[in-house]
Amino acid sequence: MKRKPHIAVIGAGAFGGWTALHLEERGARVTLLDAWGPGNSRASSGGETRVMRGSYGRDRIYTDLAARALKLWAKYELRWRRQFLHRSGVLWMASGQDDSFERGSIKALRRAKIKFKELSAAQMKKRWPQINFEGIQWGIHEPDCGYLDARASCQAVADAFVAAGGTYRQVAALPDGLETAPLHSIALSDGSPLKADAYVFACGPWLGKLFPRTIGNLVQPTKQDIFFFGTPPGDHRFNDTHLPVWGDHRGSFRYGIPGALAGDARRGFKIADDTRGPTFDPTNGERVISQDTLKDIREYVAFRFPALKNAPVVETRVCQYEQTPDSHFIIDRHPKAENVWILGGGSGHGFKHGPAVGEMTAELILKDSETDPTFRLSRFRKPQTTAASTVNPCVPCG
Ligand SMILES: Cc1cc2nc3c(=O)[nH]c(=O)nc-3n(C[C@H](O)[C@H](O)[C@H](O)COP(=O)(O)OP(=O)(O)OC[C@H]3O[C@@H](n4cnc5c(N)ncnc54)[C@H](O)[C@@H]3O)c2cc1C
Repeated sequence: MKRKPHIAVIGAGAFGGWTALHLEERGARVTLLDAWGPGNSRASSGGETRVMRGSYGRDRIYTDLAARALKLWAKYELRWRRQFLHRSGVLWMASGQDDSFERGSIKALRRAKIKFKELSAAQMKKRWPQINFEGIQWGIHEPDCGYLDARASCQAVADAFVAAGGTYRQVAALPDGLETAPLHSIALSDGSPLKADAYVFACGPWLGKLFPRTIGNLVQPTKQDIFFFGTPPGDHRFNDTHLPVWGDHRGSFRYGIPGALAGDARRGFKIADDTRGPTFDPTNGERVISQDTLKDIREYVAFRFPALKNAPVVETRVCQYEQTPDSHFIIDRHPKAENVWILGGGSGHGFKHGPAVGEMTAELILKDSETDPTFRLSRFRKPQTTAASTVNPCVPCG
């Protein structure tokens, strides 16, 4: 009888957790490790909510991946009898200045069979009178998309992984010797070694520190401030019953998630600016928002959502993107060690794809196949800078 391959997955965020689950379901023996736990507050997956959308400009690969992810979220919701995707709809507001993102998205949405509708400014004004549509010419509405419960679903994936027979350990993998090929075992923070046939490092913003030679600055953690505004008592206009998730490309890209009557989105009206912030240390960085960003956000809220002009901030969060130079993910083998896979670079838009990325990675490992060129590390060998300012404009966060 053929022996089951033993695969160690390091990192139980959106990418590592789903990969571990798919590997376990496909018959591998899997050990999943996390230094602080699935969806912890330092992890990029560690927020309450994340956007689920299909629009990606001309980047068809992510619309296709989102279509697969939508199916998988629905499948696991049914299996676990728990809701993680709140289908509030997603509204893209296309500005008169530049609507290339929205124009580019239409073909890919149609091809991927993700439901959408083009709306005129007049239609949007009528449907969502709580939004000031000044400067907006038209929009795309994706009714089957919305937002996901982020940290709660990370925990649910880890629980399902254990229920399927996987082993989970809350322990850190030490960075020593990870770039020596082939990798025979890894050292853990509790002093024990872990030996496996293959290793998947899904360590989000920590990847550069673990693989300084191969990743280094190719994954830059950038500080991102998130704000939750309190809505007037009993006023449901900014809850998911009345407002969709929205994205606004006029000026710098801003996006938001409505509040909810129950669940993790009950924290209020969530809003963020997608501009990449300064480099951030995901382990030791103090998670305190910038007053300058708060001022900009307040001005924007007063303009676009006039009824929230004087709304109080009820919560803030600081998270970090794991930003690659082109905003594309990294899903590839280590160039020197065949049995080491590096998975990450979500670049502010990875969460929704977790189930599909996990499925794809599990298949790649078990079938010993090659990853799509978009996700390969070799793309960085072509001359280009690694500054966050080179971010691919077609891949906004969310
Ligand atoms: C503010 C913000 C908003 C976002 N909005 C969206 C959105 O709306 N929609 C969307 O799709 N995406 C969004 N994203 C992006 C998405 O959340 C991330 O791309 C995704 O969560 C990354 O998942 P990951 O598993 O790669 O990394 P992480 O979630 O960071 O997981 C990595 C895990 O590895 C563990 N780890 C690290 N080092 C070690 C070690 N040495 N040993 C053991 N464990 C280790 C950590 O504890 C962590 O749990 C957003 C991100 C941020 C920060």
